[in-house]
Amino acid sequence: MLKINEIYASIQGESSHTGLPCVFIRLTGCNLRCTWCDTAYAFHAGKDLTMEETMQKVETFALPLVEITGGEPLMQEDVYPLMDALLQKDYQVMLETGGALSIEKVPEKVIKILDIKCPGSGEDKKNHFENLELLAPHDEVKFVLLDRADYEWSRDLLQKYNLPASVQVLFSPVYDKLDLKDLSKWILEDRLPVRLQTQLHKVIWSKKAIGV
Ligand code: SF4
Repeated sequence: MLKINEIYASIQGESSHTGLPCVFIRLTGCNLRCTWCDTAYAFHAGKDLTMEETMQKVETFALPLVEITGGEPLMQEDVYPLMDALLQKDYQVMLETGGALSIEKVPEKVIKILDIKCPGSGEDKKNHFENLELLAPHDEVKFVLLDRADYEWSRDLLQKYNLPASVQVLFSPVYDKLDLKDLSKWILEDRLPVRLQTQLHKVIWSKKAIGV
């Protein structure tokens, strides 16, 4: 049984898959409380669905790309059979995780978008850095930046873990808090080999829109 906040089809707004039609499965619950969280509505609200009900709902959208997100999807043990079932049906599966729990049991074929929590989130002490050793070349590491201090912290961390060499690295500003132009300027000044991203879904719809 899975506790699910919402299942819907939208345009993928983040990662290097940005712009592609995608089904989102948002699992209820999160072990973190980031200061700038935009999905607090998923902390508690949700409906219990069986694996069959979940798969049936996903199938109604007839899209090849599925992202499992939250909250923190790895908090629910049944997320693992869900990933297996989706892979068996030949979906391309993405998993967005907050980075505080181990990704050890996530199937290799799943594209993991691993957050590294910066100090501005208030949750940087919870980062499970051992995860960085478990990433495959198709996985991505995402830093959400609140300010210049977060940028410098992230830049230092890239160097420490030699990050862009092994995986795609995404730098994303907290929407409406850090100016995209400022972040772009800093990345260019430092010639950082990271991919700037914004949250495209918020540009298309609105920053408060849910289920699109
Ligand atoms: S990990 Fe994601 S859902 Fe959880 S508090 Fe942080 S931003 Fe919100």
